[in-house]
Amino acid sequence: LSESLLGVDEALTRILKNIEPLPAEQIPFDGSSGRVLAQDVFSALDLPPHASSAMDGYAVAAADLATALPNQPVRLEVIGEVAAGQVSTQDLQPGQAIAISTGAPLPAGADAVVPIEWVEQGGGREAQADTRHIRITRGLKSGDYVRPAGNALKSGELVLRKNRRLRPADIGMLASVNQVSVLVHRRPRVAVFSSGDELVEPGQRLTPGKIHDSNRYALTAAVQDMGAEALRLPLAHDSRTDVRSTLEEAVAWGPDLILSSAGVSVGKHDHVRPVVQEAGDLDFWRVNIRPGKPIAFGHYRGIPFMGLPGNPVSMLVTFELFAKPLLAALMGLQGPVHIRVAVRLRDAVQSDGRESYLRSVVFQSSDHLEAVLTGSQDSGILSSMVKANALLRIPAGVEHLPTGAQVEALLLGTPAVEK
Ligand code: AMP
Ligand code: MG
Repeated sequence: LSESLLGVDEALTRILKNIEPLPAEQIPFDGSSGRVLAQDVFSALDLPPHASSAMDGYAVAAADLATALPNQPVRLEVIGEVAAGQVSTQDLQPGQAIAISTGAPLPAGADAVVPIEWVEQGGGREAQADTRHIRITRGLKSGDYVRPAGNALKSGELVLRKNRRLRPADIGMLASVNQVSVLVHRRPRVAVFSSGDELVEPGQRLTPGKIHDSNRYALTAAVQDMGAEALRLPLAHDSRTDVRSTLEEAVAWGPDLILSSAGVSVGKHDHVRPVVQEAGDLDFWRVNIRPGKPIAFGHYRGIPFMGLPGNPVSMLVTFELFAKPLLAALMGLQGPVHIRVAVRLRDAVQSDGRESYLRSVVFQSSDHLEAVLTGSQDSGILSSMVKANALLRIPAGVEHLPTGAQVEALLLGTPAVEK
C-alpha cells in the first residue's frame, strides 16, 4: 500500500508548483515588523552623518598629547562644550580642548577624544578650582574614540535585502536611514474551518459524545504565527450542505488559501473531499506520511485548498510540513522554513515504513544534540506536541533505528524546559 501513496517531497513540490508571492504594497515602516520585504533597501545617507565622539570626554588634537606621561601631564585650555545634537561654533587651536558628549560632532581642529575618565580638572596644584583647564597624563592616536562619518553605513549601501522578513533590528535600521515607508508582500488571507458532529465550541459545556474543537483554534494560531491573516469560519457539521456552505462563505471573503481540518479521509462521514470536487479539484488526498496520511490539496473555485487531517497532532504536523511552506511562498519568503539539525537518538525507534515525524525534545548533550521522544506517538495526543520542540524525521522505508543512531530533526522553535 505504501508504494501507492505520494511521497512527502513530491507532495510539497506539487503544492508549490504554481504558487507565486502575493503582490506588494507600500506600508509605513512603523508596524512593518514581521512583514516580508518586496524591495531592496539602500541607505540614502552616511551613518553617522558626521564624524562624532564615541565617548563623553574632550575633543583634542592628538598631537598636543604627544608628550603626556603620568608624571608629566599636558595641560589644555577648555574653550567650550559641544553636546549631542549641537555643532561647535569654535575651532580648536593648539593647546585647547572642547568638552564633548557621545554622538556630538567633532569640532574642526580636533582629531581625537580623550575619555572623561582620563582627565583631571584644573590647571595644576596651584589652581585646584580652575575649571578652564584640564590635565591629561597619557597620549592617544589620531582617530581614537572618534566614529568617522559613514563608519556604520555608507550612502548607497544595501541595508536590507528583498524577501527578508523584517525584525526589530531592521525596523531600527529603516528609521536610521529615514526609509519611512517600505514595499512588502501582502499578507496571505487564510480561511480556516473544521468539521465534525462531535465538536463543540470551547467555552460550551460538553454533552455526552462531544469534545471541544481544538483544531480551528490551533490552526488560526498557526496561521497568525506565520504572519498571515486568518478568518475563522463557524464549525461545520458532518453534512455535505454544511461543508458546502462553509466553503462558500470562505470564498466570499476572498482568501488566498482555504485550510480545513478533518473530513478528508474515507469514512462514511467524511464530506470535505466530495464537496471540494463538486466545484474544484483535488491533486492528491493521501501522502506517505505518519502522522497525517489523509492530507488533501487542490483548488476550490480556483482558490488553493488544503484539507488537513482531523487528529490534532496530524493536523499540526501537516501544517508544519505542507501549509507553512505554502504560506512562506505566498509571503515571498525564500529558503527552508525549518532549521534542520542532526541529532542522536536516546531511544530506539520503530516505524511502519511511512516517512515519519516523531515528536521529540532535542537538547544539547556535551558536544552534540540528542533527542528523546515525548512519549506515545498516537496522533490524538496533543500533549505530546505541547512538549515537543522538534520533529524527528524517519525516512520512508526505515522500520527500525537503534539508540545512538543519527537522524534529522526539524526544530519547532519552542525550546522545551523538561525532557
Ligand atoms: P476525522 O478526520 O474526522 O476522522 O477525525 C479524526 C480524529 O480527530 C477524531 O478523533 C476526531 O474527533 C478528531 N478531531 C477532528 N476534528 C477535530 C477538531 N476540530 N478538534 C479536535 N479534534 C478533532
Ligand atoms: Mg470526523
